[in-house]
This record gives sequence, C-alpha cells and structure tokens, in this order.
Amino acid sequence: IPVDAFDLVIFGGTGDLAKRKILPGLYRRFMAGQMTENSRIIGAARADLNDDSFRALVGEAIEEFVPKDRQDAKIIAQFLEKIAYVSIDATGEGGWAKLRGMMREGVVRAFYFSVAPSLFGAIAERLHLNEIADAQSRIVVEKPFGRDLASAKALNAVLAKHFTEAQIYRIDHYLGKETVQNLMAVRFANILFEPLWKAEYVDHVQITVAETVSVDGRGAYYDKSGAMRDMVQNHMMQLLCLIAMEPPYHFDPDAVRDEKLKVIRALDPVKPEHIVRGQYNAGGGEGSYIEHSEDPSSKTESYIALKVKVSNWRWQGTPFYLRTGKRLRARASEIAITFKEPPHSIFDDASGWRENVLVIRLQPNEGMELQVMIKEPGPGGMRLMQVPLDMSFAAALGDEADDVPDAYERLIMDVIRGNQTLFMRGDEVEAAWAWTDPLIQGWEARGDKPQGYDPGSSGPEDALMLMHRDGRRWREIK
Ligand code: NAD
Repeated sequence: IPVDAFDLVIFGGTGDLAKRKILPGLYRRFMAGQMTENSRIIGAARADLNDDSFRALVGEAIEEFVPKDRQDAKIIAQFLEKIAYVSIDATGEGGWAKLRGMMREGVVRAFYFSVAPSLFGAIAERLHLNEIADAQSRIVVEKPFGRDLASAKALNAVLAKHFTEAQIYRIDHYLGKETVQNLMAVRFANILFEPLWKAEYVDHVQITVAETVSVDGRGAYYDKSGAMRDMVQNHMMQLLCLIAMEPPYHFDPDAVRDEKLKVIRALDPVKPEHIVRGQYNAGGGEGSYIEHSEDPSSKTESYIALKVKVSNWRWQGTPFYLRTGKRLRARASEIAITFKEPPHSIFDDASGWRENVLVIRLQPNEGMELQVMIKEPGPGGMRLMQVPLDMSFAAALGDEADDVPDAYERLIMDVIRGNQTLFMRGDEVEAAWAWTDPLIQGWEARGDKPQGYDPGSSGPEDALMLMHRDGRRWREIK
C-alpha cells in the first residue's frame, strides 16, 4: 500500500548509514510501489555537491548495497529523478534558505538526522527558525541516543525545544526486524502461548546477539561506548521489553510503549556477580581488543553477559540472561524462551532435555522454532528426543520472503505513515539509561577488568559459570 507523498530530507545524506541503509532501502520501497510518484528525497550534507553528483552517489550506493537481482536500470533512473541535494552547514547558515525554498505544501515533511548526535540541536533549531519544519513534520534520530542518563535527557530537551514527542522518531532498527514484530504477533494473536508466558511455566529467557566482527577501524569510537552502551541499553533492552511486557490494550503506539516502559522500570539493579565483561584476545590473524582500541589500559568491554531480574508479578523467579559480544564463534541473534519441565515424567527414559524451548531467530535465517519432545522413531521402546517445529519465514513465505523489507525501509515508511509504535519514546530511553548508569558506574568504581576470551569462542569462561551456577547453560552459538 503506497504511503502519502513526502519530502524526506536526509541530513548526513552522503554518510555511511545513508549509503548503506537509508537510500538503498528507499529504492526498494520505490521499486515495491510504496513510494509515490509525487515523493521526493533531498540529501543534505556538508559536501559541495549538486543534484547530479548526489544522484551519482546514490546510484553507486544502490549498485553496492542492493542485491543484483533487485537492480533494474529503468527503475533506478526513475528513482534518481526523485532525488535532489542541498549543501548545508548544520552549525552555520549556509544552505538553509535554499532548503526552505524546496519545501512543498500538502506533502508529509520528514527530516532524518543521520549525523552525529552533537548536531541534533543545531539542526532542530535551524529547521524551526527557518520555518522549514511545520507542526506536522517529523524528525528521525539515530543511535546513540546519549551515553548516559544526563546526556540522553539533554538530547531529549534540545529536541523538545522545537518538536513535540509525537513528531520525534527515535530509531532502534531492531524493532524494525520482521521477527521482532512477529514476536508480538505470536504472543498476542495466539491463545497458545500467553497462558504459559509467565514465571510459573518459563524457566528462563536467553537473549543473544553474537557478532564475529572486531572493532578494528572504529576502536577509538567503540572504546568510549562498549557492549553495554552499544547493544544492551538499546537493542537488547527493547527485545527484553517485548518478551516481558503485559498485553497492551490495543496495538497503539503509546499503549505498546507504556507497557515497555513498565518493564524497564521493573528491572532490578544487577548484582556485580551477575555481570561478566570480556575483551577479545588476539587470534585468527587479527589483533586483540586492546590493539584495536589503541588504549593499552582500556577496560571497555567487547562482550557482556548479564543475569537480569524483572521484578513484577509475572516474572518473579524467571531470570533473563543477556549476552552480546564481538569476535564470537558466529553471527547469530536469537531469543530463547525455555519452559519448565513437566511436573512429573511418566517415562523411564531420563536422557536428553525435556524442556520446550521457543526460539525466535533474528539472524541468520529469520524465523521461529519450537522445540518439542517426541518419541524417537524405531523399535527401541519409548525413548524421547527433542525436535524442532520449524517456522522459517523463507520457507513459509516462499518467493515473498525476498520482498520482506529490511528494518530501515519499514521504519522509514512508518515515519511517513505517522506510526510511532516501533520507535522509542523519550521516557523509555531515559528509563533504560537510569537502569544502565549505576551498573557502569559500579564496575568503573570497582575498577573491574574485563576477562579475556578467544576469537571464535562463545565468550569468557566466567559467562559460562554465570549459567552453570544456576544449573543452566547457554545455547550454542552457531
Ligand atoms: P558519517 O560520518 O559516515 O556521515 C556523517 C554525515 O554527516 C555526512 O554526510 C556529513 O556530510 C554530514 N555532516 C557532518 N557534519 C556536518 C555539518 N556540520 N553539517 C552538515 N552535515 C554534516 O556517519 P554515519 O556512519 O553515516 O552515521 C550517521 C549517524 O548515524 C550517527 O549518529 C551514527 O551514530 C548513526 N548510526 C550509524 C550507523 C552506521 O552503520 N553507519 C549505524 C547506526 C547508527
């Protein structure tokens, strides 16, 4: 279904994110017929380009980042016609009057801030002062949204000077993933799961975001962040919220976000013994974290595992284990909900696992599977085995799976539609930092050093122990 006609201005239109995600995504939506004839994309950045040279840059980005079988010369040419450029200085006066002159009446105006957060205030102010943004305009802001509670509050305040909360779209691209939204569909559109979705039946939840890449090339940046700020405070927190939240009364932006906020507020402070931080060693032909970070005494974590407690009625006694890291064995993201064993076994066979596990795979091969126990086939008597009921989206949807929009495409279309459900509200972000800050301050005050782990492994030893102590184990990263 096509969205309303729009003028989308991309500040930072020549940057890495615009080239890799935003512009190729818009091309795909154009190809799918979702971006109407009357819509326009305006790149705005510091570089001294004109419409033609910017179009050439967009063309190259499409060539590089859109799969070959989705590149169609005629459609690309039509798409490029919709594109314009204005050279602009976010902190100066150059370019703003020109941008003002380009704005049209009667179309949705959206402004994507794909620039460093330190420029958000300057851009918001100039959009306002130059009367480029109107009361219906939307702004989209990228991560990182602050590095602690104080800076997140300051960012919220600077945006709130010129825009209402209903106009602000804080992107967390994890929320744009098909499976993540399917998590809500599975929970709230089926009778099957919700009755079991509580401490009484759920033993524990594991959320894993494993990467194989190092921080080489952006070590100086990453060293100021670390896995907690870069992954846990935002993406993993969002996943945790979607699993733990109560059913909202309606699939409505504020109803959903109200419920997520309640989860964040219910999180207990994490005890130091429930936090494991790691740094990758050298190996596999690559340097260690310390070499990449360029700070020989860096204590920043490239891996973190946490045991998190959601202190509310539903989850009393069900731990949530979170782990994420770089240079791990495989690139894999998943949520696994492990249910409790049946209260009594009528079978003699004591081998194997008896729990049901619902696995939501974000990466690779997006989909879900439910591990169930069945009888091992054959004449060997009543021996049990665990098999997956597999629901891979690629298999279920056939050719249509290719057209499942990437997270960024979907989120940008939601901005144009004016749907904030999959965007973080200001109070959510602040609550997440309010939980995160004391944990970081705690390990900094204690001077905790991250434990080394080998590239290609599943993380530091202590992370295994975190689970073993509870009589549980991490799922294999594969
Ligand atoms: P980048 O450095 O590649 O691009 C920055 C862009 O900002 C360029 O287009 C540049 O011209 C423009 N710019 C810089 N200073 C300016 C000024 N004074 N006036 C006007 N334009 C100016 O950065 P990026 O990697 O594209 O990241 C952009 C934002 O997105 C950042 O906030 C980043 O944290 C966030 N982000 C990036 C990625 C990614 O994969 N690259 C992922 C998530 C979030």
